[in-house]
Amino acid sequence: MTGPDLRNITHRLLAWYDKNRRDLPWRKTRDPYAIWVSEIMLQQTQVDTVIPYFRRFVKRFPTIGSLARASRDDVLKAWENMGYYARARHLHEAAGHLVQDHGGKLPATSEGLLSLPGIGAYTAGAILSIAFEKPVPAIDGNVRRVLSRLMALRKPLREPSIQRKIEKTVQALLPADRPGQFNQAMMDLGATVCLPRKPACGRCPLSGTCLARIRGLQTDIPPVPIRAALPHRDVTAGIIRKNGRVLVVRRPEKGLLGGLWKFPGGTLQDGLSLQQGLRQSVLGGLGIEVAVGRKLLAVEHSFTHFLVTLHAYSCGHLKGRPKALDCAGWSWVPVDRLKSLAFSKADRVIIRSLFEAK
Ligand code: SF4
Repeated sequence: MTGPDLRNITHRLLAWYDKNRRDLPWRKTRDPYAIWVSEIMLQQTQVDTVIPYFRRFVKRFPTIGSLARASRDDVLKAWENMGYYARARHLHEAAGHLVQDHGGKLPATSEGLLSLPGIGAYTAGAILSIAFEKPVPAIDGNVRRVLSRLMALRKPLREPSIQRKIEKTVQALLPADRPGQFNQAMMDLGATVCLPRKPACGRCPLSGTCLARIRGLQTDIPPVPIRAALPHRDVTAGIIRKNGRVLVVRRPEKGLLGGLWKFPGGTLQDGLSLQQGLRQSVLGGLGIEVAVGRKLLAVEHSFTHFLVTLHAYSCGHLKGRPKALDCAGWSWVPVDRLKSLAFSKADRVIIRSLFEAK
């Protein structure tokens, strides 16, 4: 046998999905906008975390028009703590394009969707199949893992030949009448049964045709790539107070955590102490001189490609009026108002400590 028996896979998978589908809020609607929002949130965040964010977001911004009219701050605030903030910025930007060029509606074509910021092949496939019932594959990491096991493909999933083979197979399996449900069934199978380390083959509807299971290879496929240790950065943050207010700066729009607020400071340069680095970052970013006082706390945080320790110090303002030299803006904010702005997760730990100390 050179490949799995594809004939029954679609039928068995859909029958399983009809009984076992996850009850998710974005599955209770056919509104392309809500489905788009859910798919963008799910790109890098677990389903359980997404659910409350999704509910709040579509309540706050119920239509593409309302999202387009919202301020960037409000959109980032609604996304706060979910991470990967470029997703929120792209969603907001795309809503603006849709209102301007598409009458406030999502286009029902791959070409139209792929022209919007933040939408790649997977998200376009998911929206087209789920919201518009078009037979377009939606292949994410879960689906790749399931397919590589079904076909007992032993090469790494990132190899283009493997990706082409998986895409061709999914295309062949997609039923014309239920493409959205088929794609969601594949996602559910990967997320709840065909798990990365411990696939539950005993309750899998496809175990009879799965070549990895038949050959006893299910935990060897897909091969796990060897990861190098993540690099580490020390970052400083100065809590600069004046007349009951705290100085905060807005990060540049582009780049990591773009558009979010933070405390003045930056990545520590080699050869400097934390205090020296903080003084230098504040001077370079805002053109003001500060006296670095006592250390308040250190917060560990991990990003996809590196780890950060954020060192927060209490600082005194010595000289100069802030200027936005290396940031998108600055503001003296009353401590009580800090919670109304969008900050990163690590910065929010600092804010909590400020409230506790109050
Ligand atoms: S039989 Fe096991 S390895 Fe194969 S698709 Fe099902 S859960 Fe995954």
